[in-house]
Amino acid sequence: MRPICLVGIGKIAVDQHVPAIAASPDWTLAATVSRAGTVDGVPAYTDFAQMLAERPDIDTVSLCLPPVPRYDYAAAAIAAGRHVMLEKPPGATLAEVQALAAMAQDAGVTLYTTWHSRMAKGVAPAKAWLADKIITAAHITWKEDVRRWHPGQDWVFAPGGMGVFDPGSNALSIMTEILPAPVHLRQADLSFPANRDTPIAAELAWTGNVTGSFDWRQTGPQSWDITVETTDGTLALHDGGAQLVINGADVESGPDREYPALYDRMAALVKTAASEVDITPMIHIADALTLGKRHVVDAFDF
Ligand code: NAP
Repeated sequence: MRPICLVGIGKIAVDQHVPAIAASPDWTLAATVSRAGTVDGVPAYTDFAQMLAERPDIDTVSLCLPPVPRYDYAAAAIAAGRHVMLEKPPGATLAEVQALAAMAQDAGVTLYTTWHSRMAKGVAPAKAWLADKIITAAHITWKEDVRRWHPGQDWVFAPGGMGVFDPGSNALSIMTEILPAPVHLRQADLSFPANRDTPIAAELAWTGNVTGSFDWRQTGPQSWDITVETTDGTLALHDGGAQLVINGADVESGPDREYPALYDRMAALVKTAASEVDITPMIHIADALTLGKRHVVDAFDF
C-alpha cells in the first residue's frame, strides 16, 4: 500500500476522504496536516513544510483545503516532488490550476483535479446514452441548504470561495462530462447577499437551450437534478448523479462510491506519474462571474 498524506482535516476530509482511504486497497493514511484537525492514530503535523521535510516516505498528498489556500500547498508539494490530488474546484482561479499543471509536468509528478460528482453511479451510463443523441434542451436544478453542507464556513462567501458555485461545480462537472458537444454561457443572473462577496443563487443560460438554477437557500428536501431532452426522449439524473432515469425507466442507481473511485483513479495515475487536469467546469463559473448581472438580496448569516 502506498502512503498518502491528507491535508486540511475539515468537513470533507472527515466525511469522505478518511473513510475512502481506510477502505482502499491502494492507500494507507500515513500523516495529516491541519492546524486543528487530526485523525485518530495517524501522525499529525500542523506545518506542511515540516511534513514534506520529515516524511520522504510519503510521495503523495491529497489536498482537502478550500480553494484559496490550496494553491500554495500544491505548489510546495510539487516542488518537493510529491504527487498531488486536488479537491474540487481545483483552484481559486483558472490560471493557477494551469500553472500547477505545468509545474507537475516539469517535475514529473501526477496532478489530479478530482471532480467527485463525475464518479456518481449514473454519470458514465448517461454519457454513453447521450453520445449519439440530438440534444434539444437541458436543465440543471441544484438547490441545497448551505447551513447543512457548509456549516459556519465563511470562506464560501469570501472572494475566491465561489458561493453557490462551490456545490454548483458538481453539476457543472457532470454537465461537461455528459453533453456530447460543449456549450458556452450566454446569460447569468447572480444573487449576492447584501453582506457577502459571492453569490448565494444563480440562474444561468447556455447555448444549446441549456439552463441552470442554483440556490443555496433550500431547506427541506435537497435537489440535485439534471434533465436532458433529446429527440429520442428524456434522460434524468437525480440525487447528484446517483440515479439515472431514461424515458421514465430506472436505469442505474446504487451505493455512493464517488470518493473510493477518486482514490482508485489516483492510484492508477501515480503508477505512471500521469496527470489528469480538467478545468472545464471552472470555466463556466468564471464565465458566470464575468458575465453575470448582480442582484442584491437579503443579507446571509450562518
Ligand atoms: P472546511 O471544513 O471549511 O475546510 C477544510 C479544512 O481546511 C479546515 O478544517 C481547515 O483545517 C483547513 N483550512 C481552511 N482554511 C484554511 C486556510 N486559509 N489555510 C489553511 N488551511 C485552511 O471545508 P470543506 O467543507 O471540507 O471543503 C473543503 C473542500 O472540499 C472545498 O473545496 C469544497 O468544495 C470541497 N468539498 C466539500 C464538500 C462538503 O460537503 N462540505 C463536499 C465535496 C467537496 P485546519 O483549520 O485544521 O487547518
